[in-house]
Amino acid sequence: MRLMEEMILREGTILPGGVLKVGSFLNQRIDPALLRAMGEEIARLFADCGVTKLLTIESSGIAIAASAAMAMDLPMVFAKKHRTSNVDGAVLSTVVHSFTHGMDYNAVVSRDYLTSEDCVLLVDDFLASGAALEGLARLADQAGARLAGAAVAIEKRFQGGGDALRDRGLRVESLAQIARMDGDEIVFTGSL
Ligand code: 5GP
Repeated sequence: MRLMEEMILREGTILPGGVLKVGSFLNQRIDPALLRAMGEEIARLFADCGVTKLLTIESSGIAIAASAAMAMDLPMVFAKKHRTSNVDGAVLSTVVHSFTHGMDYNAVVSRDYLTSEDCVLLVDDFLASGAALEGLARLADQAGARLAGAAVAIEKRFQGGGDALRDRGLRVESLAQIARMDGDEIVFTGSL
């Protein structure tokens, strides 16, 4: 998606450890035109795939998944990173390793919100090692739901998670795909 690539080149900054900072348009301040376009593109990519629900994880996936959910006119569920008092009763839960924080956390969804009737589209802001999407896939699996695939705003392809998921048969679509980040340079797979 050209608009996303342009925003990354204009406003993204590379932090140590292969982390891309995009706080000015995706992770803290949100650009409304870009958010709307992301939702519409995800809806276009997964039209006619039988999706019944979108599943993401708090907090940065929520805006993107909500935009896609509005474009698809489907409900969206987000996993919480801790079991809080407003997630009571039976829950689906799995441990996920955080790429950016270097620690494990529990991803939790109420059993009421994902069922074996669902065909789930996973959504997140970034795809790096794939741990977050794998965790969401485990939650869908615990519910007995089917997976339609995964959509992410930015895939850092050099970190391998996307290809591992594709190798296991999951359809993974990324709106911008970064082949490498060298020094200050960001190279997209489309420009190789
Ligand atoms: P993974 O689980 O695929 O290793 O990493 C994806 C998760 O880590 C996403 O939910 C995202 O929030 C965070 N993440 C991974 N890489 C980056 C990055 O380069 N920049 C930012 N802002 N978040 C990232």
